[in-house]
Amino acid sequence: MSVLLEVSELRASYGAVRVLHGLDFVVNEGEAVVILGANGAGKTTTLRALSGMVETSGHVHFDGHSIVGSRSEQISRIGIAHVPQGRGTIVDLTVAENLRIGAYRRRDREVAADIERWYDVFPKLEARADQQAGNLSGGEQQMLAIARALMSRPKLVLLDEPSLGLAPIVTQELFRTLGELNHTEGLSMLIVEQNANLALGIGSRGYVLETGSIVVSGTTDELAGDDGVRRAYLGV
Ligand code: ATP
Repeated sequence: MSVLLEVSELRASYGAVRVLHGLDFVVNEGEAVVILGANGAGKTTTLRALSGMVETSGHVHFDGHSIVGSRSEQISRIGIAHVPQGRGTIVDLTVAENLRIGAYRRRDREVAADIERWYDVFPKLEARADQQAGNLSGGEQQMLAIARALMSRPKLVLLDEPSLGLAPIVTQELFRTLGELNHTEGLSMLIVEQNANLALGIGSRGYVLETGSIVVSGTTDELAGDDGVRRAYLGV
């Protein structure tokens, strides 16, 4: 397995306040990697740091590029798509327009075919293709945000709490789809999630973040069997 994303000594700050204190982790090609952690642990900041949205130092190598200090635009151009917490759709535009915007940088002729492909994966989006994104349910908006990110044909998708605000049954469906995308298409993912049960179900490896530092790492089976992880994140 080759390394797609290699992070070392990643630090990030908001002004004078440092919230990430030197993280080391990797995502291999085709892996779904999970970052668990309580509120305020620094999960969102980790994804923001990878996307060039917060003041960052350390080393981040992605697919042959060093990206610390790069702008978000450059980072997305080389193949990292970020689905932020709270979705990330343009609410005034239709579902179809949102998907086309996801592909705005592409120059190939397969954009329309890709839209059809994501409609196959997320049939509810096809049924609502001409509706404004703002009128979709929370779960549909989350699916749209993910499909929109995938329209850029990324090599790595960063998913920030995809379960946030969704009904359990919708979340389960969404995670099943994410798992399928990972298994069948080899889509590499870094998923930040508070719902540890779901996240450990689709990831192959994971890291636990506490107040800006990684305190446990391992395969998802190892994490699910770790007493501390079970008590803190699985409620057992
Ligand atoms: P949650 O699960 O609640 O979203 P999280 O693990 O994603 O939490 P972060 O949002 O990364 O945590 O926040 C990490 C720390 O950074 C917290 O102490 C938070 O208060 C602080 N923080 C986050 N955003 C900012 C900001 N824009 N300015 C200052 N401090 C911030």
